[in-house]
Amino acid sequence: MKLTRRCLYCNCLFTPNPRTNGLQKACSKPACLKARRSDAYKAWRSRNPHYSQSRNGKILRWTSKQPSYWKKYRRSHPEYVRKNRLRSLERYEEKKAFFAKQVAIKSDPIGFLNTIRQKMAHSPHFAKRNAIKDVLDGILTYLLFKETLHNETLSTPQTSPRYDGSPVVLSELGRKAAPSPVKKTQ
Ligand SMILES: [Zn+2]
Repeated sequence: MKLTRRCLYCNCLFTPNPRTNGLQKACSKPACLKARRSDAYKAWRSRNPHYSQSRNGKILRWTSKQPSYWKKYRRSHPEYVRKNRLRSLERYEEKKAFFAKQVAIKSDPIGFLNTIRQKMAHSPHFAKRNAIKDVLDGILTYLLFKETLHNETLSTPQTSPRYDGSPVVLSELGRKAAPSPVKKTQ
């Protein structure tokens, strides 16, 4: 038997089982088999989203009848608890950062965009993906919030912010200290 295939997971050469008719993607190492199974499972789940939904519902109904189940499960699965805790912390930090950004936009929308612009101008690694992502993230958050602000203005004109909603030109930001108030002399 010849070593004719490369394992998708550990990159070693292996002899595929002739019965798999060339479809075998992983070698026979337990870690590779496990990874392959896990990937296949994830792919199947993403192709069948309704399965997860109905299954989650079933699990919820079942565990609501067994109140001590999760308590026992957490006690016997410390790794699950650790991962869950980390993920919660991540979600909390993401939310906190998002709200901090919102506060910054609300108190000084032009200053917020100006900071983004300066980041673009001064970053020596602007070509790097993360820098671009940060900038786009900021602009997107700003646009989303502007839309919300606009909707609020429509419903409550008395408490509308001074920002007039006119399009912001990035090149003018440095010169413009504050947004020009709406002046309509007719
Ligand atoms: Zn392998």
